[in-house]
Amino acid sequence: MNAPVQTSSLFRPAKRLSAIGVSEILKITGLAAEMKRQGQDIIILGAGEPDFDTPDPIKDAAERAMRAGATKYTALDGSPELKTAIRAKFKRDNGLDFAQDEITVSAGAKQVLFNAMMATISPGDEVIVPTPYWVTYADIVLIAGGEPVLVPCSEANGFRLSAEDLERAITPRTRWLMLNSPSNPSGAAYSQGQYRPILDVLLRHPHVWLVVDDMYEHIVYDDFRFVTPAAIEPALRERTLTVNGVSKAYAMTGWRIGYGGGPNALIRAMAVVQSQSTSCPSSIGQSAAVEALNGPQDFIRERRRSFQERRDLVVGALNGIDGITCRVPEGAFYTFASCAGLIGKKTSDGRVIDRDTAFAQYLLRTAGVAVVPGSAFGLAPYFRISYATSTAELREACRRIASASAQLK
Ligand code: PLP
Repeated sequence: MNAPVQTSSLFRPAKRLSAIGVSEILKITGLAAEMKRQGQDIIILGAGEPDFDTPDPIKDAAERAMRAGATKYTALDGSPELKTAIRAKFKRDNGLDFAQDEITVSAGAKQVLFNAMMATISPGDEVIVPTPYWVTYADIVLIAGGEPVLVPCSEANGFRLSAEDLERAITPRTRWLMLNSPSNPSGAAYSQGQYRPILDVLLRHPHVWLVVDDMYEHIVYDDFRFVTPAAIEPALRERTLTVNGVSKAYAMTGWRIGYGGGPNALIRAMAVVQSQSTSCPSSIGQSAAVEALNGPQDFIRERRRSFQERRDLVVGALNGIDGITCRVPEGAFYTFASCAGLIGKKTSDGRVIDRDTAFAQYLLRTAGVAVVPGSAFGLAPYFRISYATSTAELREACRRIASASAQLK
């Protein structure tokens, strides 16, 4: 999935990096950005962040906090004010009751996940990761010394994990199942009914813990009702870590605040990891996050509407292209379209599009559109589009993809 970290006569990376490296996503978006810098007309549909800005009340709160002296280390895994705001959020949005010492705050949800794996994984431990997946999941498991067990989820099953596949993947060495709904990259989400059989499997295997990444909770469409497993099945609460953050819903990717709610013993072990890496999350980011979670939430609805228009635009356009099919995602701001109908075709200069990476490269080279191949997320032949960009740009990108696809013979 990744290009290995470079070794030279002077530099020798740690063994733990041998299986991970710079992600394919960064490689293709990096190449596209370089082409753009050189003056080429490139549309990059790779962004993993909203194109909206952080709302002003949140910025104002950060400024006030800074002026009032919130510029020092805070409590190790989150200030009391932010933990209180997170508990209120879990209660309000998810019906989950957490005590103050069951909450952790880190420099992004990514660090929450990192701390959880570093705190619990020993060599040989397995973590089940359904694919297509956010590559970070597997890489964090590898850094922690564990083994990611990738379980493919077919498009026919809505890119969701089936209970049978989960049951088959569980071994005595399984420590965690990692779920993400709505998903990056597929946009697929689990309803309460779709979660149920999976949670039933977990109930039968008490040694398996569950980590759920709810990062895109607020970006869901139509009449989809977001739910989180700990709220559906209270019996799993004592072995579930519910992860969330302010990055996507509040357009705060740069502020680096993510959080989790889970059993106190786990939360304490995660704090030990954090104590020797970042000490605490940014004090100013935490003050901003308090305002995000406690302040007005109505702009989330407006932004959701705007994302839904873009989703409909992209899905409609892609499904109009011969050789491409695109499932309608329930949430997030990604489409994950199949390019199976174009595999085996030839470009005008005789190159065969033999896999999705070749298709992505072809689109970049000939249409000036950067998408990420599905194989970068563990499922081929697909490509991911992030539609967190203007409708004008999305329309033009889809027009170019249609024209480039039509030229394949
Ligand atoms: N979880 C998922 C599924 C994501 O796609 C991302 C970012 O792309 C994150 C977590 C990262 O969140 P944070 O910015 O809080 O680290």
